[in-house]
Amino acid sequence: MANSRQRATDWLSFLLTQDLPFGEALRSQIAAGSVRELCECGCEGFAFAVPVEAKVQRLQDGAGVFYEVAFTSNYPEEIDILLFTDERGNLSWVDVTYGASNIGPMPADIVPDSRIGGWPATPTDLPAVPEPAADATQRWWEFWR
Ligand SMILES: [Zn+2]
Repeated sequence: MANSRQRATDWLSFLLTQDLPFGEALRSQIAAGSVRELCECGCEGFAFAVPVEAKVQRLQDGAGVFYEVAFTSNYPEEIDILLFTDERGNLSWVDVTYGASNIGPMPADIVPDSRIGGWPATPTDLPAVPEPAADATQRWWEFWR
């Protein structure tokens, strides 16, 4: 089945049913923004845009991959979802692929089952805006200096 705005909206709704460590921020972003271009390669990826003036919680500090989460499905391959942010740290792209490496078109009647895992997997792993921590000797952001 061809990618569609409805599918994109369905995937966003599905993500919000998940207990994600940044769920509240994601909810505010999805409420403020809208689905844009749809990928036409057979996956169900889509662009997302949060208006500049929107008052939302940022997902991370800057542009790039933010989170990856994978689910088993009623098909042999998993469903892989990747979230990207723009330079403002707001949701800008969602990859939704059949199989971790997008091995084929997303089946129209695919149903996500259990969550296989997520990266970053816990709130402390999230590439959030760094806050100084008194007891921190080696926090992830220090490797980027
Ligand atoms: Zn695609």
